[in-house]
Amino acid sequence: MDHLTKDDLAQIDRTYLQSLEKETVIDVACKLRDFSIAMVERVEQNSSNSSKPPSSDSPYDKGNKGKSDSKDDDAKSSSAEDKENKTTENGALAENSQSDDSNRSAGRQPGSQGFWRSETPVPESTIPHYPSVCVICGKGLDVPEGSRPYMGYYVYELEKTASGIRIFCTLHHYYAAVCDCGHETKAQPGEGYISNVEGRKKDLKLTEYTMVGPMLATFIAALSVRFRMSRVKIKEFLSYWLSTELSVGTIDKCIREAGVACYPVVEELVEELQEQKIVNLDETPWYENGCFKWLWVAISTTVAVFYVGTRKKEEMLKLITTAFTGWLVTDGYLAYRSYEKRQRCLAHLIRKAVALTGAVDEKAQKMGDWFLRELRGLIKAMAEDGEGGRRKCNPILARLKRACNLGSEEKYFKLRALAKEILNDWDAVVAFVKNPELPPTNNDAERALRHAVISRRISFGTRTTEGSRAYTALLSVIETCRLRNQDPWQYIAQTIALGRKGVAPSIIPG
Ligand SMILES: [Zn+2]
Repeated sequence: MDHLTKDDLAQIDRTYLQSLEKETVIDVACKLRDFSIAMVERVEQNSSNSSKPPSSDSPYDKGNKGKSDSKDDDAKSSSAEDKENKTTENGALAENSQSDDSNRSAGRQPGSQGFWRSETPVPESTIPHYPSVCVICGKGLDVPEGSRPYMGYYVYELEKTASGIRIFCTLHHYYAAVCDCGHETKAQPGEGYISNVEGRKKDLKLTEYTMVGPMLATFIAALSVRFRMSRVKIKEFLSYWLSTELSVGTIDKCIREAGVACYPVVEELVEELQEQKIVNLDETPWYENGCFKWLWVAISTTVAVFYVGTRKKEEMLKLITTAFTGWLVTDGYLAYRSYEKRQRCLAHLIRKAVALTGAVDEKAQKMGDWFLRELRGLIKAMAEDGEGGRRKCNPILARLKRACNLGSEEKYFKLRALAKEILNDWDAVVAFVKNPELPPTNNDAERALRHAVISRRISFGTRTTEGSRAYTALLSVIETCRLRNQDPWQYIAQTIALGRKGVAPSIIPG
């Protein structure tokens, strides 16, 4: 027992306490004390959020402090809003509605027509949930035969079959039972992390009290993140091909929920990242609500973590902390320069050399060819195995340095720039010669970003900090599963199922 509901507390009144044996009163008092301590600690941890977030130190939550939310005052009523068969709360909200289209917020507008589920779902089976022990005295409970459930809801779930997939509906019934001590305990749907966004009317809460099962939610997230389908297209697809009618809002919630459920996994992955020997790091432009940001990736042979933030050095420290002692493989971006154990991506330099070979200036063309020959020669020699390859490197390094020294004296700007660039970052450019385990290019990181770059072109990025964090959490989990030869969707569905119970996810096997 770690959570007492309003209903439980309402029952613990003076009359109830007076009816108990002295020993039981002490037990109850201790339980209430534990509960009070938990509440006080929670309040002090984060005043804007009623749940203990697994990542209260999140950079995204800044600025939310001091905003007091309605807390989890009533799980039932807030979750019930998820159901689509809810009529609109009109009137009072109408004055908030914007007449100016450009200022419209996303989603359903206040005062707009709500809609009802047209057909009653036909459940394949009914799953009963009974309370097992009294939350107050801990005694085992029996639900008498013929009891009626105090609540119920439908869940649509997806199942993979031998030759396809199917979606089916189950009805969940929740029962209550009265203990010998007089307290009535109710079986409750599980609840987990609550994600809030500044200015949003309703927080996203992980809970079992929802109409979409973990596997179906994962399927929807896969259609969005992996197959880049818009929310509207997913709605159409589910309706046409699977005869499942879900609103765009519900689909959107499933996608974000899948990401939010993966937050604790990402924290684990960031920690694992610090122990890696070699990490490739790269970043690409990203948009968040129209603002220019960067999408970062840090990837090793077994871990990949994505992150949306600025391009400042502090953001890099969110991925590669001071605990990291391995090698970084990066492009020439200045924020990386201070890191000592670094391999500079040669592919970038080769591209610049190729550009020089196409220059009008004849000297630049020739020097470009020279750079190209030495840089490619270096990669080729290192790719050959063992001593033989490494022995070839020394003369190449000498020639490359000579080319740089000559080039840095030249008038042609791009030539001089490339020569100086290599000279200034010489140790990082040639680190892979002394350390043959290092890759000479940053191809792994660039390849990992490519999927997201195409998504950005289609969808123009993400809309909220939560959206960015949820999106990158899913990318991190999918890419890490790929590196470890695991089925990402099975893992994400399992993570959602656990998250809805408030249970921490298992680590990705590998
Ligand atoms: Zn009891």
